[in-house]
Amino acid sequence: MSGMKALTTLMNELEDQLIVCMRCGMCQAVCPLFAETGREADVARGKLALLDGLLQEMFNDPQGVYDRLNKCLLCGSCAANCPSGVNALEIFIKARAILTGYMGLSSAKKLILRGMLSRPDLFDRLVEWGSKFQRVFSKPVNEVIGTSCARIVSPLLRNRHFVPLAPVPFHRMIPSLNSDPGSSGIKIAFFVGCLIDKLFPQVAKDAIDVFNHHGVGVFMPEVQGCCGIPAISSGDTVTFNRLVNHNLRIFDAETYDYLITPCATCTATIKEIWPMMVKDDSGDTKLKVDEIAEKTLDINQFLAANVDLEAGDAEDRGEAVGITYHDPCHLKKTLGVLAEPRSLINTNSKYRFKEMPESDWCCGLGGSFNLQYYELSSNIGGRKRDNIKATGSSIVATGCPACMMQIADMLSKSKEKIAVKHPIEIYAEVLNSK
Ligand code: SF4
Ligand code: SF4
Repeated sequence: MSGMKALTTLMNELEDQLIVCMRCGMCQAVCPLFAETGREADVARGKLALLDGLLQEMFNDPQGVYDRLNKCLLCGSCAANCPSGVNALEIFIKARAILTGYMGLSSAKKLILRGMLSRPDLFDRLVEWGSKFQRVFSKPVNEVIGTSCARIVSPLLRNRHFVPLAPVPFHRMIPSLNSDPGSSGIKIAFFVGCLIDKLFPQVAKDAIDVFNHHGVGVFMPEVQGCCGIPAISSGDTVTFNRLVNHNLRIFDAETYDYLITPCATCTATIKEIWPMMVKDDSGDTKLKVDEIAEKTLDINQFLAANVDLEAGDAEDRGEAVGITYHDPCHLKKTLGVLAEPRSLINTNSKYRFKEMPESDWCCGLGGSFNLQYYELSSNIGGRKRDNIKATGSSIVATGCPACMMQIADMLSKSKEKIAVKHPIEIYAEVLNSK
């Protein structure tokens, strides 16, 4: 679909979905943004009421509607807790696409999304170039967490403590793979995800080691593209469609049982947002999207269901250090995955697991929300940091690299010495110790 026809279809879909909201206000209690601002305009009910008059408002004040819609973490807490089953996430994403289609993208977003992100090969090369020069403007700040901060005042980085680009991204360590199934009899396709590839390559390396250990065959094509979430959350359907088509093409080159990703956000995007955005397409793309979405699983969920997880030495329990777990919104609220990452963590007898209070309260990142509303994002993240600290743990694990970034920032700025890990790293330690 393209142009006005696509916008009209999206608008009709939106109208059908908006009438389901009965304005009960129950989404207030779970909205992390409302908890900070107390403003009705920020909660799902307020945004839905605004969208009810979208057609009218779009001509009166399109920028105003866009700004209010953009002030949202897209965490899905409202949708997961709505008694009427209003899929607020789908509504917000489609409304952003409508407004961007009407107003166009800003020059900066056009450059970043269409000029770079939509070209996976170029994007990889630019990020590699950036990793070589990052030490010019940043310096290490917390050894345990592995964060850096700006050397000089920077309006973009502000007082952030960020995870630096890895010196060698994962796609340079292992550019591609195509191995046969071993003892498990299963072959998977591995979708790495940009953040794991460029910031946390060890997570992907551990995932490959775990697949090999359990006799899982791996197909990993070269030059994987982004899953498209930064584009579609900015309403950019052009870049989103390009990335979906690129990934469909490269993953179509082999047959496999499941498509596995170690990133909660990539999993949710491929499984939920790809089909949502091609719902009314006919033909090949829709068929392929539905097929790949059906096969897509989070790595924790795949391992817990398909291999015999091995446990560490019980004697280590005596000296175990504390570990806790944060539920990424995209994993728990969107996909219902919560027990499996905990099962992986609990295999490792070097750690003593302790639940944190409000483990599924959003970390506050919200993608571009963090760039646009850093103060608010940090306030929401501060609540997460305090809940992590309350467990007295030395490690916090979570199944989403975006949450890992945000939690690292929050802990590092408070000078904490709490390491941030992915559950697959905790499980890989068990296998490496044998
Ligand atoms: S989105 Fe759901 S929870 Fe929120 S006001 Fe509407 S019906 Fe109630
Ligand atoms: S997606 Fe999250 S931040 Fe946005 S309105 Fe819903 S609960 Fe609030």
